[in-house]
Amino acid sequence: MSIPATNPDRFDVRTIVAAVQHAVGTPNGTLGLHEPVFAGNELAYLEECIKSTFVSSVGKFVDRFEHMLEEFTGAKRAIAVVNGTAALHACFRLAGVEPGDEVISPALTFIATTNAIAYCGATPHFVDSSIKTLGMDSRALGTRLDAVAQRSPGGTINRETGRRIAAIVPMHTFGHPVDMDGIAVIARHWDIPLVEDAAESLGSTYNGHAVGSQARLAALSFNGNKIVTTGGGGAILTNDEELGRRAKHLTTTAKVPHKWAFVHDEIGFNYRLPNLNAALGCAQLEQLDGFLNKKRLLAATYDRVFEDVPGVRFAREPEGTSSNYWLNAILLDEAHASLRDEVLTALNAAGFGARPAWTLMHRLPMFATSPRGDLRVAESIERRLINLPSSASIQARDD
Ligand SMILES: *Cc1c(COP(=O)(O)O)cnc(C)c1O
Repeated sequence: MSIPATNPDRFDVRTIVAAVQHAVGTPNGTLGLHEPVFAGNELAYLEECIKSTFVSSVGKFVDRFEHMLEEFTGAKRAIAVVNGTAALHACFRLAGVEPGDEVISPALTFIATTNAIAYCGATPHFVDSSIKTLGMDSRALGTRLDAVAQRSPGGTINRETGRRIAAIVPMHTFGHPVDMDGIAVIARHWDIPLVEDAAESLGSTYNGHAVGSQARLAALSFNGNKIVTTGGGGAILTNDEELGRRAKHLTTTAKVPHKWAFVHDEIGFNYRLPNLNAALGCAQLEQLDGFLNKKRLLAATYDRVFEDVPGVRFAREPEGTSSNYWLNAILLDEAHASLRDEVLTALNAAGFGARPAWTLMHRLPMFATSPRGDLRVAESIERRLINLPSSASIQARDD
């Protein structure tokens, strides 16, 4: 394999562009970061759904979509909802997060994770990320809790703020499974419930199990840029039948089942996924195995191509896991971090929809005063990470 470079031993922005070109070819227009693929029964199911007139909150596609999710992940219950943020909001409520509480979250995440915490009237409390998984670092979590947490009759509290720490929300960044075993040990030790933000990781496995399938509560997203899409959509996964029942109830206006009477027994949410969106989702889930194959092939190609590029490293799936490689990522060496925007500019100019990592949550005005531990690794990742085009439609060039 050869990548044209002005000097093959030195970091060079042009070498990175050439490497991406080598992996995915020269784009015809712009190659987006993640574009949906509709190559199955999408139109047929949508037509069937419209002809049935059941396009809204009840219909067979919602039930079918939930069963397909249960089958694919192995989770006992899947509850379809309008989007991943709503799924997270409901998960936090079901985990018992109350106004005035804190929820431990990575700072390196999409805004939905922290918004959902705020919707509960709670405050995010940020801990550092791992350079290996790009997700919450179990050691940083342990260190932070040792420093600030204290048991009390009402639960574990943050000694510095006096607030209860009501949940921990690990997120599987770009599809790479986080160190759930390490995090679970600490969560158990402090008796704090876990909510998994698995929005990016449908199809990834950890210890041989689908990510989210072992959780008491996990949230999925089917936004247009995720590995499968319902247009907008999400789901709650749980292994607890009673929680599953409560999740359905809470997300469907908490209506007490009755032939005609409208009785609601708590303030519920209108978060149910319309049948129309579920129809699209059924067609998408039928193709998930194929999407996974294509995405893992593309990741392997990026990995191989970037082995020969100095000063850059491809972000591989953590050991013992299988990633869906929702978004492929490269990390510039710290010495070249100042050139990140130059690399982004060059890639985009060449037609590659490359993007930086999210701005860390504690830098955003709404969360600037939220409690946090040392965030050195997350800050380093933020400086150096670049996401590359990752659609399942991309034909990886494997010479
Ligand atoms: C996509 C995503 C969500 C959910 O987003 P929605 O657009 O509301 O479906 C939540 N968390 C993370 C990390 C995500 O990437």
